[in-house]
Amino acid sequence: MFFDEVSITLEAGHGGDGCFSMRREKYIPKGGPDGGDGGRGGCVVVRCDENVSDLRQYHFKPNYKARNGEPGRGRQQHGKGGDDLILKFPVGTEFRDVESGELVAELLEHGHELVLLDGGKGGLGNIHFKSATNQTPRQTTPGEYGEEGAYKVQLKTIADIGMVGYPNAGKSSLMGCLTNAQPKTGHYAFTTRRPNIAIIEYHDYFDRLLLADIPGLVEGAHENRGMGHKFLRHVERCSVLLYVIDMEGTDGRDPVEDVAALRHELGAYQEELLDKPWAIAANKMDEPHAAENLQRMQAAYEGTEIHAISCIGETGLEELKQGLWTACKPAAD
Ligand code: GDP
Ligand code: MG
Repeated sequence: MFFDEVSITLEAGHGGDGCFSMRREKYIPKGGPDGGDGGRGGCVVVRCDENVSDLRQYHFKPNYKARNGEPGRGRQQHGKGGDDLILKFPVGTEFRDVESGELVAELLEHGHELVLLDGGKGGLGNIHFKSATNQTPRQTTPGEYGEEGAYKVQLKTIADIGMVGYPNAGKSSLMGCLTNAQPKTGHYAFTTRRPNIAIIEYHDYFDRLLLADIPGLVEGAHENRGMGHKFLRHVERCSVLLYVIDMEGTDGRDPVEDVAALRHELGAYQEELLDKPWAIAANKMDEPHAAENLQRMQAAYEGTEIHAISCIGETGLEELKQGLWTACKPAAD
């Protein structure tokens, strides 16, 4: 199950009531009013935290309320304010009004914080109501209610296309071929340590797609080996998955098995990832064994879009680019 959309209701704390109190001390016969003000209610604050990966927490507990302010007390003591409630959300969280669907707030950067709902003001103690004509006011005001809100919370997609593949399959190279980005390539694992996102321009359509390189997928990633989970969680937030495969089968790998193993890895992490639209970029077609491996792959994955390409030979790239467009913009165009 994806936890990328939830509905939540939030409530800021109420203000504490103002206090009615008269000063009473031994040698002061007519002490005036000394009731203090109520404390302010706690605010609801949302904070962007890169260590939070999805909205799981809010799926299981969708209602939150900040603390109320305390009532005022005698001897002019103000009530304590309610603590703010700080809720953490993943990078790229959007808050929409449940009814209108209008965008209320978004959290885009780690550490970014917003007050979503204000706490209620504290009420006034009777000390405020003393006047020339009324030396013993009984009047106080109640604390105000905190603001309430119901939100539809959603995670933005990070890219239209997410590339997954084993290290050295050619993901960075492909990104270099399809986009304006100039990513590092290298013959060692984990050249790329964070997802790299770049733009594929479609001049004919006056449009663009976002391509993400999800690096470092190795066997056991779903068990959080290598840098598994960190990357797999980005895969969730891509619309289409492109499996980038080294068709030469370097280091004794078998490209056909690579596809199965990658899909196994993703499925073990989250079954729904297998339901996303996907295609294969069969890379390194310039290598000697690539052609026969491609035939086997086509037989094994009939019905799947397989794009035979070579980043180095610069072949098949335009067709792949068009194929990605069709996969991402179905029907609409
Ligand atoms: P990544 O780990 O998936 O990002 O792979 P890289 O893009 O860093 O590429 C790994 C290695 O494969 C580099 O040495 C690239 O030059 C090489 N490579 C990438 N594409 C091709 C290709 O089409 N043909 C051949 N022969 N080598 C390629
Ligand atoms: Mg790379």
